[in-house]
Amino acid sequence: MYMLHRLRKAGFTAKVFEAGTGVGGTWYWNRYPGARCDVESMSYSFQFSDDLQQEWNWSERYSAQPEILRYANHVADRFDLRRDIQFRTRVGAAHWVDDANVWSIRLEPERRNAEAVDKTVAETVTARFCIMATGCLSTANLPDIPGRDDFLGDTYHTGRWPHEDVDFSGQRVAVIGTGSSAIQSIPIIAEQADLLTVFQRTANYAVPAQNAALEPDKVAAIKSNYARFRAIAQTRISCAVFDLPRPSALLETPDEREAEFERRWQMGGLGFIGAYEDLLRDETANGFAADFVRGKIREIVDDPETAALLSPTNVIGCKRLCVDTDYYRTFNRTNVRLVDLNVTPIREITATGVALVGAAPVDVDAIVFATGFDAMTGTLLRMDIRGRNGTPLTDAWNGGPRTYLGLAVAGFPNLFVITGPGSPSVFTNMIPAIEQHVDWITDCLENVRAKDKSVIEAETPAQDAWVEHVNLTADTSLRSTCSSWYIGANVPGKPRVFMPYIGGYPAYAARCEQVAQDGYDGFAVS
Ligand code: NAP
Repeated sequence: MYMLHRLRKAGFTAKVFEAGTGVGGTWYWNRYPGARCDVESMSYSFQFSDDLQQEWNWSERYSAQPEILRYANHVADRFDLRRDIQFRTRVGAAHWVDDANVWSIRLEPERRNAEAVDKTVAETVTARFCIMATGCLSTANLPDIPGRDDFLGDTYHTGRWPHEDVDFSGQRVAVIGTGSSAIQSIPIIAEQADLLTVFQRTANYAVPAQNAALEPDKVAAIKSNYARFRAIAQTRISCAVFDLPRPSALLETPDEREAEFERRWQMGGLGFIGAYEDLLRDETANGFAADFVRGKIREIVDDPETAALLSPTNVIGCKRLCVDTDYYRTFNRTNVRLVDLNVTPIREITATGVALVGAAPVDVDAIVFATGFDAMTGTLLRMDIRGRNGTPLTDAWNGGPRTYLGLAVAGFPNLFVITGPGSPSVFTNMIPAIEQHVDWITDCLENVRAKDKSVIEAETPAQDAWVEHVNLTADTSLRSTCSSWYIGANVPGKPRVFMPYIGGYPAYAARCEQVAQDGYDGFAVS
């Protein structure tokens, strides 16, 4: 929506295609119980207008999905954005037409909404520029478990949750997966279900959200200081105003470390992983934080065997740190069971439930797949995107994504990706990361227009150098050491490439700014 807003302000004609029936993106699709996001740090990051940020009030530190979706709808209405958004429309293909210097974009009625499709929808449109605002986590990863379609009960994916209320009262429910979405939804599902069985492949670290109402004083303090907060955020690696890290966990005594981890645990949220500068660089430092969380799990979970099973053994922060409300405590409930898939793997899904190797089958009424996404590249590679000479993006990226600044792809002129692979994206506060890309792309298009040119394209040497820099930077972090979705490890057959840029928001934004100031260095303009 911000892209549309900026393009309009700059005098471009823009049209947005959206598969769903409404605005909100992540918050439109991810309606699973317990879906929340930290709006305290987001609330001083929206750039649409000063008036908007003054007039909107968030009710909680971690706002629930319905409130965030209400906000998205409010923004769409307030800025009259809907008239340029075509809903229920999926982009099936985008082909660069060499002779005409335009993108030819094939539109398909969204299958799920096919009956509601406006029959007047054009099948193909052309555009000078094509901007992929398709999100980093938008294509659901539904594992290919044998028999998946044979199940006679209800199945759900957290990222494709129905719009109607789902009530698990009186049901036996399976949740497969223990990532962020599962960790948020499991405590709520457990309150409703008769019996909840959680199928865990890899235990995950979760820190408490410490969610609370946003008190009027706090809101007023934030609102009167938006500009300052934003300026501070932009100097931080994550572009969020968390407490600054202390220099090194190795330089402090056990008591000092314990006090700092406890302080951050009580504060709640992702700032925990920023306690020390070396937490994501040094294994010993990382081990201190991991031990602290494992100690908390042992304190919270009554049954020592369950506590041990819930205790992760990998590097903390390697997979995305989860933020929870009562996740570990939920395993003290008598109606919740944990199944370790490393000991008793899923053999198949049957008509009545989940069959395991080496254990009795688990009969259930509903299965929730909290199995994540084909992250960062999945959505783009499922679209039939073709650049110069008809080259498919799937060929250009067959060894993993290659971009210049995560914004553009050599051989794919006039194509931009918002928070694409190779940009800080998922390692930053997403809203300012998106805003930075939107502002940069708009300025870039204005520049092309001002020069009376029509084509801008990333050059291969600049792209190669950027990809190398992204990879070298990733190698300096412990984040590249486990089977996470950051490296595509959650999707069978996906190339193992560390996709986001880990060098931090300030360095990245400065680099983008420099490229623009140098006349779009690394881009060919014609
Ligand atoms: P995820 O982190 O990728 O977690 C997916 C879970 O499913 C993992 O536990 C994974 O196990 C498991 N899984 C995948 N395939 C499986 C299979 N075939 N059999 C058994 N288990 C399987 O996905 P997510 O929880 O949807 O979260 C994705 C990202 O969205 C997060 O990392 C975060 O960036 C964002 N998010 C943020 C929030 C928030 O706090 N605001 C909430 C939700 C999501 P393995 O670990 O073994 O692969």
